[in-house]
Amino acid sequence: MRECSFCGRRAVYFERTAGVHRCDRCFKENIEKRFHRTVTKNNLVEPKDRVVAAVSGGSDSLTNLKLLADFSRYKDVEIVSLTIDEGIEGYRDGSIPIAENCSDRLNVRHVVISFSEVFGKTLDELAGISREGNGPDPCTLCGILRRSLLNQSARELDADKLAVGHNLDDETQTIMLNYVRGDIARLYRLGPKSKGKKGFVPRIKPLREIKEKEVAIYALLSDFDVHMETCPYMGGMRSEVRDFINKMEHNHPTTKYKILRMFDKIKPHLPVDSKDFDLKKCKICGEPSTGTLCRACELLDSLGVERRKKTLISK
Ligand SMILES: [Zn+2]
Ligand SMILES: [Zn+2]
Repeated sequence: MRECSFCGRRAVYFERTAGVHRCDRCFKENIEKRFHRTVTKNNLVEPKDRVVAAVSGGSDSLTNLKLLADFSRYKDVEIVSLTIDEGIEGYRDGSIPIAENCSDRLNVRHVVISFSEVFGKTLDELAGISREGNGPDPCTLCGILRRSLLNQSARELDADKLAVGHNLDDETQTIMLNYVRGDIARLYRLGPKSKGKKGFVPRIKPLREIKEKEVAIYALLSDFDVHMETCPYMGGMRSEVRDFINKMEHNHPTTKYKILRMFDKIKPHLPVDSKDFDLKKCKICGEPSTGTLCRACELLDSLGVERRKKTLISK
């Protein structure tokens, strides 16, 4: 039996970067400390904030919700959890009750917004229409529509922040993807907290310095019923970059932290054209947009789909 390097109890995790073993208690304590450090260092949550946490039912979002809910108990902060039901057969069905139960257990209000309710079609149906018309692939569709519903719901819920469960693996993959694609504008938008200008609720990432594996173990040790399935639409360049980074991390522990730290150091020096776009309100859904229609409504229009619901949250 391996012993915890700190208290001598049975170890559950070996942290290769630091060369230490941790038991369940010391492991959880360490994750909580690191979450706290990311939140305070980057000023992610402030007193009196209302934070909407996006919860899919996977371990990242459940851990994020739990840590935020614990944090809110001794700070003057309100947490609301929000699930977007995209309508992906066999994938989403199990995850919604999990998000619901977890929110109940943490005493947090839970809101569900579904594609079929708002757009009159599930993601599966939209993907079918898009395929026939040679439109965008399901991941692109889902990304644009999901992002738009998350922001609109958060805004209608009067949120000061929208918290997402991106972990260290997600963040380093996105950094590398933008390097590979040469997309400086997107690269510039990455970070622990986005600017919340004109209708955009600032997005925060409290887990961005914690590895995917550590987040998963934390969720298991917290007795969450975790939704484990992988999205059937997942694939493409991101999985190539993920495999590459994981191999590097295996051979050279600390690779992930180094990619993140390097990016955080470079970011303030990126030559970004900072002219502010004149943001208007989309004439259909009210989301911020550069033209008369936002990207989501433009996309729906190109598929010949009409939005059923303009306001998402009934007051
Ligand atoms: Zn211990
Ligand atoms: Zn719109």
